[in-house]
Amino acid sequence: MPAIPIRCAHFRACKSGLVFACDLICPKAGFGQGSPRLDHFLYRDGALFAEDVPVAEIAAAVGTPFYVYSTATLKRHFALFDDALAWGDHLVCFAMKSLSNQAVIKVLGDAGAGMDVVSAGEYLRAKAAGIPGEKIVFSGVGKTAEEMRLAITGGIRQFNIESEPEMIVLDQVAQSLGAVVPVTIRVNPDVDAKTHAKIATGKSENKFGIPISRAREVYAMAGKMAGLKVVGVDVHIGSQLTDLAPFEAAYNKVAELTEQLRADGHEITRLDLGGGLGIPYARSNEAPPLPSDYGALIQRTVGHLGCEIEIEPGRLISGNAGLMVSKVIYVKSGEDREFLILDGAMNDLIRPAMYEAWHDIVPVIEPAPGVEPAKYDIVGPICESGDTFAKAREMPPVGVDDLVAFRSAGAYGAVMSSEYNSRPLIPEVLVDGDQFAVIRARPTYEEMIARDTMPEWLS
Ligand SMILES: *Cc1c(COP(=O)(O)O)cnc(C)c1O
Repeated sequence: MPAIPIRCAHFRACKSGLVFACDLICPKAGFGQGSPRLDHFLYRDGALFAEDVPVAEIAAAVGTPFYVYSTATLKRHFALFDDALAWGDHLVCFAMKSLSNQAVIKVLGDAGAGMDVVSAGEYLRAKAAGIPGEKIVFSGVGKTAEEMRLAITGGIRQFNIESEPEMIVLDQVAQSLGAVVPVTIRVNPDVDAKTHAKIATGKSENKFGIPISRAREVYAMAGKMAGLKVVGVDVHIGSQLTDLAPFEAAYNKVAELTEQLRADGHEITRLDLGGGLGIPYARSNEAPPLPSDYGALIQRTVGHLGCEIEIEPGRLISGNAGLMVSKVIYVKSGEDREFLILDGAMNDLIRPAMYEAWHDIVPVIEPAPGVEPAKYDIVGPICESGDTFAKAREMPPVGVDDLVAFRSAGAYGAVMSSEYNSRPLIPEVLVDGDQFAVIRARPTYEEMIARDTMPEWLS
């Protein structure tokens, strides 16, 4: 973890007394005004803090492992997008699949965010957190009639349709409820997002959307359906994009299509441009584009169309707003390496196993300046070689019972966790300034076990 260069003349102190913000982009530190790298998990007085709360204090209160999120970071990241689109009508819809705890949804909703949901469960969670239906867009390739009914009844901003069969079902459901629902059609622009294969969605071989070459035909069908009102075009090409070029290629195609659709007689007033802007996981060497540049790109490619712009960022808002904190159980010496065995495992944070993802892993006690790094394989206790967070990772030496924090764990962390190996789901904690609260408690073993039920013939 590179220390923040406090020597830099541009740094100033924030209200809480934390030196955290810079008025200029500092290429050396990567922290700066408008930079998605900025978060509120910094060392202070020799220990890692989440905003104004020592991480060790949370660990003492809730036990390890756990997730902790920073309210200030969530708000700031939302504001980066909101500001980037300030040139026109827009709604930033948080992709809540990246982090769906209701407290987080409430923080972002209060800041003005809409929500992008992909299931009835997410829809109901958004509603439960107070998000009005008019600010919820429903995405996803496999919405069921039941999910459609639920969202139409509860109120919805729009459905993003992904196929003709889905469109036919939505039309039937809408008509059966006497409703006319606003829709966009998700087009697959056939551009290479140049991201991990499991999260690329914009190539023609992917299961998402309708090939852009067939879009006019499908819009013509939609235009004749009594239960649907075509309002716009939708596109989402993938996740963790670290370059703006694929967005530019996709949005240029969307602009061209919008003009064709208008010529065909459709009233296109909204463009949903998806999510996918990447974040720096390895702070030392990655510099993904800034939301401000992304916003300028949107203005350049589709701004002239006069549409209301929707975007669906998930990871960039939530990713660097969260840590997973874990404890070292054992340090084991292997033949040619040392293993750090943690109490957190792949069931708690699956991204390294699933996407070969890198997470910076840092000690909660600030390492002494100039300390020689150790080299570890950092693993969890599950009986699978896949339960490995990092191999030959250089980090400051730590010992048994020390706490370590996984950075950038807010997105696709808690939401993808499971109880594999009968390990109870780990708690989520939200920090706001000097206060913190558990926003999802760790179930007890009894609660976890009680969810199984015995068939009569076995009892
Ligand atoms: C996953 C997804 C998003 C969010 O992607 P991020 O990379 O987290 O920004 C947005 N829209 C749709 C349709 C998605 O599937």
